[in-house]
Amino acid sequence: MNSKPRGVPSGGRKGGAPPLPPPNSYIRQKTNKRNHNKRKPTWRNAKTHATANKTTATDPATAPTPTSIEPCYASFHNNTITCRSEDPTLAWNHVLSKSTAPCLQVSSVVPRTLFASPRAPETLRVVCISDTHGKHRRMTKDIPAGDVLIHAGDFTNCGHTSQIKDFCKWMAGMPHTHKILICGNHDITCDKDYYNGTAKNGQASWKRFHHNGKNDDVAARRALRETKNLIYLEDESIVIDGYSFYGSPWQPEFCDWAFNLDRGYPCKMMWEKIPTATDILITHGPPVGHGDMVSQQQRAGCVDLLSAVTERIRPLYHVFGHVHEGYGVTTNQTTTFINASTCTLSYRPNNAPIVFDLPRKNLNTIPSTKMESNNSGIIKISAKMKRTIALLTLILGSCCVFLLFQQPWHIHYIFLKDSVNGLLFDRSSLPTTMKDL
Ligand code: MN
Ligand code: MN
Repeated sequence: MNSKPRGVPSGGRKGGAPPLPPPNSYIRQKTNKRNHNKRKPTWRNAKTHATANKTTATDPATAPTPTSIEPCYASFHNNTITCRSEDPTLAWNHVLSKSTAPCLQVSSVVPRTLFASPRAPETLRVVCISDTHGKHRRMTKDIPAGDVLIHAGDFTNCGHTSQIKDFCKWMAGMPHTHKILICGNHDITCDKDYYNGTAKNGQASWKRFHHNGKNDDVAARRALRETKNLIYLEDESIVIDGYSFYGSPWQPEFCDWAFNLDRGYPCKMMWEKIPTATDILITHGPPVGHGDMVSQQQRAGCVDLLSAVTERIRPLYHVFGHVHEGYGVTTNQTTTFINASTCTLSYRPNNAPIVFDLPRKNLNTIPSTKMESNNSGIIKISAKMKRTIALLTLILGSCCVFLLFQQPWHIHYIFLKDSVNGLLFDRSSLPTTMKDL
């Protein structure tokens, strides 16, 4: 998130955050009252897109109307912990990371990136990628098969319509039954108000990025909505197999890019639109404390997003990207947080997709054949074969099984080891002969 296309002026965060108090006044006094209904709204999002299959969030016109000017406080642990929203590093370092509240504990989880990771029968496999930045056809790690493929935004460099159309075509062609996409700050053409508006430096926003002329932004947004086999979410939900997925492209202001909101109330109000009954939350930006540490050792996550996630929504999974260097998985034991950034800090598409499995709710929703069929190499293995290999492994030992079963059977051995010992294998760590399968 910290690099910009050519021609973009350098500079850090601009606007939005008011001067911060010293840490000792950082925790809100209980007697302070929020008084945020006096002024008109300054945040610009008023977009909702309803479709027959989706649930659109509450109309922002009916939402309260605080501004980003007034101090904003986020609360945690049933309002017993509060802190200012505007500086995530200060909030995390001085308040949130010092708390013993269970919802604020952060544990690292080994990402499940295994190409041929086993899964229990009758589960819904979700595969997460993000921040491909136009390099979707050059990803160096294979994309595992699964039922749902999620892309958490920044699928372009800077929103060129041709790149958006190519990405939609690529994504729609993936073998997963459902493909979910949200935008990120780089996908500027998809933010109509931003692309056709004026940047903070007074220049037309599109001119900052598209030096060869204005792109057809209408066609770009149409591609998102009209590509077959692609579910585009912009502050909307969709239910798949009984699980509610909600997607939102917004993130705290960063160098005046698309889908930016000032920290504080604008973000807080945006997250209030997320339905409480969300099982899998997809946002472009991370919450503070989870996969949000940038290379300068600063936190870039959203304090109010963490509050919404831990205090109200409590989803099973929260998938995001944006902070490339924050790739990985963490948990607070209630929600698993997945930073699925495919590109590294240096914009190389080298990070492996991250997968998770959910127990199936509606077994008839997705054809079972889809679970096994793919073009990315998952091997179908029968129950009888699993039993045979398990027996041989117990009797002969895994090395013997490996020797016994030459290609393609050693793939089955990997399945087996994984299911028996609970070990996770990253395909990149396998011997070359296996990688080439
Ligand atoms: Mn990015
Ligand atoms: Mn981003």
